[in-house]
Amino acid sequence: MLFDTHAHLTDSRFDDIDDVMDRAYSAGVRSIMLATADIDESEQSVMLIKKYATHRLNLYCSVGVHPHEAKTFDIESETRLRDLLNVAPKNSIVAVGEIGLDYHYDLSPRETQRDVFKRQLAIAEEYHLPVVIHEREATQDTLHILMDFYGSDPAEDRGVVHCFSGSVETAKILIQMGFCIGFDGPITFKNNRHAPEVIASVPLNRILIETDSPYLTPVPYRGKRNEPAYVSYVLDKIAEIKHLPSDEMARITYENALRLFRISPKQHFSEL
Ligand SMILES: [Zn+2]
Repeated sequence: MLFDTHAHLTDSRFDDIDDVMDRAYSAGVRSIMLATADIDESEQSVMLIKKYATHRLNLYCSVGVHPHEAKTFDIESETRLRDLLNVAPKNSIVAVGEIGLDYHYDLSPRETQRDVFKRQLAIAEEYHLPVVIHEREATQDTLHILMDFYGSDPAEDRGVVHCFSGSVETAKILIQMGFCIGFDGPITFKNNRHAPEVIASVPLNRILIETDSPYLTPVPYRGKRNEPAYVSYVLDKIAEIKHLPSDEMARITYENALRLFRISPKQHFSEL
C-alpha cells in the first residue's frame, strides 16, 4: 500500500483523472494528498475530494499559497483560505501548503514570500495542522524563519519539507525541528549522486514518498507526465538505499503519512 503525499491532480494536464486514479489504485496506491499552489487550486482540491468521496482511493489535500504566488496573498485570499479551513468536510484538509520560499524563480518579491510564509505558518498553528514546505535556493532564510517561529520547543510532526534536495546537515536540522522529509522522482536520476547519502541519513520514521505529479517524473518515465502510479519508483529507490524490502518501506512511509497528517489509522484502514 502506497501513499503519494504530494500530487497536483487539479492540474489541467489531468483531463483523464479517472484513468489516472485507476492506474494509481492498480499500482498499489491507496491514498493521495493533493498539493496546492494557490487559493483557486485549494478550492478545486476540496471539490475534487467531495466528488471522489466514494472512490476506493482516499484523497486528502493541503491548502495554501506557494511562494511563487505569494504576491497574490491578500486579505481576500486569506479569508477564502480560512473559509476552506472552517467548512471543508472533516478529514479532507490535512495540512497547510505548499508554503515556503523560492529564490530560484523569484516569482514573488522575497520580502513578500517571507511575510506570506510566516502568516501561513501562523494559520497552520491556529488550525493545528502540519505544514508542507517548498524551499528552493532559500535554505538559510527558511531555517531562520522556522527557528524563529517554533523556537527551541521540541515537537514531532510539524510538517514535511517536500521534494527535499538539500544537504545531510540541513536534513538533520529539519528532523531535529520535527519535520519529515519528502522525496520525489529526481532521486531516481542517474546523475543524482547526492540523494543516496541524504536518504541514508534520514531516519525511517521521517521519510515520505511523493510524486509532485505532473512534475518530476521518475525513471523510467522521465520526460513524460508524472502521475501517482509512479510513486512506486520513488519507493523502490529509497528501499534499495535503506536495504529494506519495498513492501516494508511502503508500510513505513504509509504509517509516517498517517501520523504526520493526523489521519486516524483505525478509521482509515477500516475504510480501505
Ligand atoms: Zn508541488
